[in-house]
Amino acid sequence: MTTNSIEQRASADLLVCAGAVATMNPAREILRDGAVAVSGGRIVAVGKAGQLERAFDAARVIDVPTGLLTPGLIDGHCHAQYYIARGMVDDVGDVMTRVGRYAVPFEYGITHDEAYVSARANFAEMLRNGTTCFLDGGGRQPHAIAQAAIDTGIRGVVARLTSDVSGPFRLPIAEDVDTLVGLATEAVERWNGAAAGRIRARFSVDLPLSVSDELCAAVVAQASALDVGILGHFHGHTPDDHGGGRNPHVERYASLGVLSGPTVLAHIGWLHEDDIAAFVRHGVGAVHCPSQSMFGGFGMIGHGSIPELVEAGVPVGLGADAACVSRFLDLVRVMYLAACAHRDARTDPLAIGAHKAFEMATIDGARALRWDDEIGSLEVGKRADMVVFDTTGPEWQPRALANPIADLVYTATGHSTHTVVVDGDVVVDAGELTTIDAEAIVRETDAVTTSVFDRLGFDHVRPQWPVRA
Ligand SMILES: [Zn+2]
Repeated sequence: MTTNSIEQRASADLLVCAGAVATMNPAREILRDGAVAVSGGRIVAVGKAGQLERAFDAARVIDVPTGLLTPGLIDGHCHAQYYIARGMVDDVGDVMTRVGRYAVPFEYGITHDEAYVSARANFAEMLRNGTTCFLDGGGRQPHAIAQAAIDTGIRGVVARLTSDVSGPFRLPIAEDVDTLVGLATEAVERWNGAAAGRIRARFSVDLPLSVSDELCAAVVAQASALDVGILGHFHGHTPDDHGGGRNPHVERYASLGVLSGPTVLAHIGWLHEDDIAAFVRHGVGAVHCPSQSMFGGFGMIGHGSIPELVEAGVPVGLGADAACVSRFLDLVRVMYLAACAHRDARTDPLAIGAHKAFEMATIDGARALRWDDEIGSLEVGKRADMVVFDTTGPEWQPRALANPIADLVYTATGHSTHTVVVDGDVVVDAGELTTIDAEAIVRETDAVTTSVFDRLGFDHVRPQWPVRA
């Protein structure tokens, strides 16, 4: 809070005023008629709008009296190259079919330029829904993902996926461990810290059954040498998978050093209490992707130990995952699922809930990504990543802003997004993307999607019912 007098007005680049400000500071204060001042990409003041208007001479003022100002939402697990694969695995069969028949040929079959077009549209949708930061689970085109992030203005973490075991999905492994670690290292060295720190890079390990001990050890050693983290994929284990005992993948990853990266793991199914204790002991972050699990029937809601991880203090973020396995890239809808789905699965009307789900999409997600020193809350000194949600729509009534986080999570969608700021830059201005030509991107994305599907022989993306021309 600043106390400058009118005569000593400080200059600022941007002042955003809103009817309510959900700070997500340690006390979780919500300010009525609040504001955030930004200078040099950082938050320099948070307080009452009237006081900050008097204290700062801002180059631009955005004043939305009906707005809810929050930290930018953090998508802790996505795959931006799969935006153009939306619809690819709708109702096509079991996971072996979805991955083996479609996802693997797609993963290994698209070019850098196609991945770039996909990622740019992916990030455009995210920004339009209030997501300001992503962690990409990794693919074979990290350079395209990073460049698209830079061009759209979003913040994020990129990685080059590594897998060296063909495994159940019969991956067409073409690279040995040295080559894989070399490719992943190239991505880290090229992108970690890019765009004045807006882009970070990590190492990425695929599913436990797709990575050898040798690869894990090499990734751990290189991540440690370069002082970057690791991200990995788990999947929807049930209590029956291991006879109610410990998850052998947790023990294996712990013994190989994979859990200590620092590491964030996505897609957490059922865990034994000793597995959860291992997450706590090694400082593992987790990312929950409820829409991916519900779309694919993976059981993270039915069996997943998400409420137990939260209870144990593990930072659990939220992810929409890839557009083909979530269908939407709207973390507001993802928050709704996180808030409510576990209640049904546990027949517990107080499980998770709106305020915890909002923490998961903001400060807890930042903690899971080990980026909470810079993002995840609206506090002086942090980078200015924030969203204004417009509350004039009928879904916010009656008494808009009376209980804004509950209304956002339980009732609204990302379509309420009005203004988005990343690193101090206004990237969505009154609903319009400022960094890219949204209409041109739609045309280009359509053309690239058609080209890729034709090349891969994917002619199955159509209605189940007869269509009349
Ligand atoms: Zn993933």
